[in-house]
Amino acid sequence: CGIVGYIGDKDVVPVLINGLKKLEYRGYDSAGVALFGRDSLKVVKCKGRLAALEEKVNGDMPEGYIGIGHTRWATHGEPNDVNSHPHISQSGNIAVVHNGIIENYMKLKEFLISKGYEFVSETDTEVVAHLVEYHYKGDLVQAVMESVNELEGSYALGVICRDCQDKFVAARKDSPLIVGLGNGENFIASDIPAILEHTRDIYILEDKEIVSLTKDEVSIFNIHGAEVKKEIFHVDWDV
Ligand code: GLU
Repeated sequence: CGIVGYIGDKDVVPVLINGLKKLEYRGYDSAGVALFGRDSLKVVKCKGRLAALEEKVNGDMPEGYIGIGHTRWATHGEPNDVNSHPHISQSGNIAVVHNGIIENYMKLKEFLISKGYEFVSETDTEVVAHLVEYHYKGDLVQAVMESVNELEGSYALGVICRDCQDKFVAARKDSPLIVGLGNGENFIASDIPAILEHTRDIYILEDKEIVSLTKDEVSIFNIHGAEVKKEIFHVDWDV
C-alpha cells in the first residue's frame, strides 16, 4: 500500500503513477488517482495492478496540476473498484487517499449518516472524506485538523479539495509519510523512492502532524494548529 501526492506544473498523472510503481514493493490489490483538471474532479481507480490503472487512464488521459494517488491493501471491504481509493465526499468537494485503519469508523459512520451522508463503499476510509467535508468551512487545513482529531487508529492521508485548488493537505499517525520539496512543486509519499527522481530534499513527518502544500510553500502544523519548524533531510543515496 502506498500514497503519492503532487502539486506543481508537471502533468500530474505520470508523476503519481511512476511514484506508485516505486512503492509496489509494499504490496497492494487496487490502485487509483484523483486530480483536478479544468475545475472538475477526476477519479480513476480499479482493482488489480498499476498496469490496469494505467490502461484505464490512458484511454482518457486527464490533465491536471494537483492530485493524489494510492495503492490499496484492503483491510475493510473486499478489493473491488468501488472500495479502491481515492474516496470522494458526498458533494464531490473532497477526495481522500488513506493507508492504515480507522478503528472508530463505525461510530463516525453512524454520526455522518445521521447528518445525511450516504456511503457507497465498505471501507473505513470513506468516513474521512465525508468528515472532512462536514468540517470544511473554507479552510482545508482546519477541516483536516478537526477531522484527524476525531480519528482513532492509524493513517497516512492525502486530501484534495475542489473549492481550494491552490493547495492540498496531508497528515499521518502510525503510517509513514514524507514530504518532498521541489522547485515550484511539492510532493508527499509513503516512502522516499517514490519521489527521488524529482527531489532529494525531504521533510520526515512525525505522528499527528498535518502539512499544507502549495506549489511554492510547505507548512507543517501540530495537532493544536501551531506551526512546526523542521530540518530538511537531504537524501544522498540512490535506489
Ligand atoms: N483501511 C483502508 C481500506 O481498507 C486502507 C487500506 C490501505 O492501507 O491500503 O481501504
